[in-house]
Amino acid sequence: MTSDRALGPSLREAYVAEFSSRLRHLLHTRGDLDSLSLQRGIPPYVFREIQALRPLAGSIPHEYGGRGVEPKEILSVLEASSYESLSLGLVLAINGALFLEPLAKYGSPELKASIFPRFIEEGAMGGLMITEPDYGTDALSMQTSFDQQGGEYAIKGTKHWAGLSGWADFWIVTARKRREAGGLHRDIDFFVCDSRQPGQVISVEEWYPNLGLYMIPYGRNHVDVRVPLGARLAPPANGIGLLRDLLHRSRMRFAGMAVGFIHRILDESIAHCRERKVGGRSLVSFDQVKRRLAEIQAGHTISAAFCRHSSEVSGIGKDLAEEGLAANVHKTVLSDLMQQASQSFLQLMGAKGYRLDHPAGRAVVDSRPFQIVEGSNDVMYDQIAAAFLKRMRQAGESSFLGYLRLHELTSLAAERFSRILDFQLAGELLQRKMVDLGKIIARVVSVDFLLRLGSGGYDSGLVENAIEVLREKVGMIAAGFRDGIAVPLVEDYQGARDWQSCTP
Ligand SMILES: Cc1cc2nc3c(=O)[nH]c(=O)nc-3n(C[C@H](O)[C@H](O)[C@H](O)COP(=O)(O)OP(=O)(O)OC[C@H]3O[C@@H](n4cnc5c(N)ncnc54)[C@H](O)[C@@H]3O)c2cc1C
Repeated sequence: MTSDRALGPSLREAYVAEFSSRLRHLLHTRGDLDSLSLQRGIPPYVFREIQALRPLAGSIPHEYGGRGVEPKEILSVLEASSYESLSLGLVLAINGALFLEPLAKYGSPELKASIFPRFIEEGAMGGLMITEPDYGTDALSMQTSFDQQGGEYAIKGTKHWAGLSGWADFWIVTARKRREAGGLHRDIDFFVCDSRQPGQVISVEEWYPNLGLYMIPYGRNHVDVRVPLGARLAPPANGIGLLRDLLHRSRMRFAGMAVGFIHRILDESIAHCRERKVGGRSLVSFDQVKRRLAEIQAGHTISAAFCRHSSEVSGIGKDLAEEGLAANVHKTVLSDLMQQASQSFLQLMGAKGYRLDHPAGRAVVDSRPFQIVEGSNDVMYDQIAAAFLKRMRQAGESSFLGYLRLHELTSLAAERFSRILDFQLAGELLQRKMVDLGKIIARVVSVDFLLRLGSGGYDSGLVENAIEVLREKVGMIAAGFRDGIAVPLVEDYQGARDWQSCTP
């Protein structure tokens, strides 16, 4: 492989091209990906060879032997991996965005010098533990706690669903400080555990039979460790700011996985629809089939636009703690596109796609959790609307379109929506309406990103098609937003008559 040190842009491109071709060779000649994907975990010889290509060195600074933390390269490596396997892309994203990049940004020089070489030379892996059985969306209320005991921190609690459970060599574990008077402090701290050190091993109490992403182990972890004082990450202000910065950057890495994953779905779907004959006609000649294919293609173009945005803003030199709106737009739109593309892929394949050993069946179950992890999409859309409305009210604006024209993430795109989004927003909205509004805002931002991709030279026909797909979607959501009624839930439905007693 190309030398890791001090790569310029063209050498980075050469690295990604070489990584991509060697990965394809490895997965298609040394291992059969369809059968590999059916096994839980990944055979050690395959993973050793992937690690030998040093994909994770792209998330390690130059001074520690890496290729520097360049978002464009990181996204390109995620793209190449996710084209072959979404699980593999996620393994790299977990290591990079949830472990190596926070360590590079917030670890002490001594801590970094003791860990980064193990990734470069020994193929070590790392992950992040935030979620607890009783605290997922409400992660800030986590109960894992720590206190200082002499020259160490003692950390205790239960974490679950951490990607690479039982497999990672290193963990960043989140915990709240125990008060002397009892109870826990509000802020969150981050500690690095090294499973090779005595007293730092995190044991898996129960393995979860995850629905998809078979390559990645998940489970419930018992945390009862002692780490040295130097293993604590040092946020400039507070831990909640670090958490936001970390999660926002990670959400902006979804673009690399989405663009590779949807590209593969597009290639496979088009190949199938050209070849498959129904009633003597090639599938691709049917209009509804063309519509599905065009939507998948739009998903790929939109993901490319998000990659461009992420490349520009998500370096570790930037503080993303206040970039929740953009980060949540990345996370929600891209995970929705991944799931929609997978559903269309399976639909177009027909019954033969409904198998775990078929890429279409796997795509549906592998992409589904992206709508849940790192913040459930329902909650994220609500937060997008709240953040936008807050700024809108501060600006004294009540016209939705008027503020879309002003906001830095939507100003380029606003005119494209002048007919469908020209309404006033006043008063409090029900949460379901906030979610709809968040979906609309997220898609207007997506059109803004597309226009910027187009001005960078991307194929204008593909960009315009993607904009049309988004405009149609926004039109449908906006109709429901304006006119839809808030159907109530009847909680006491068990007492209602059954249909048989209402049927003669
Ligand atoms: C494949 C996978 C990988 C993961 N990887 C990691 C990892 O590496 N590290 C880690 O720490 N965690 C990880 N997680 C955990 C993940 O981040 C949590 O599952 C997620 O934050 C949601 O928490 P929860 O599952 O407890 O759901 P809950 O908090 O119980 O929420 C369930 C649902 O309730 C609804 N809901 C919740 N709150 C609200 C609200 N305020 N308003 C409206 N609706 C609401 C939403 O529909 C939500 O999806 C992973 C999970 C999965 C499935």
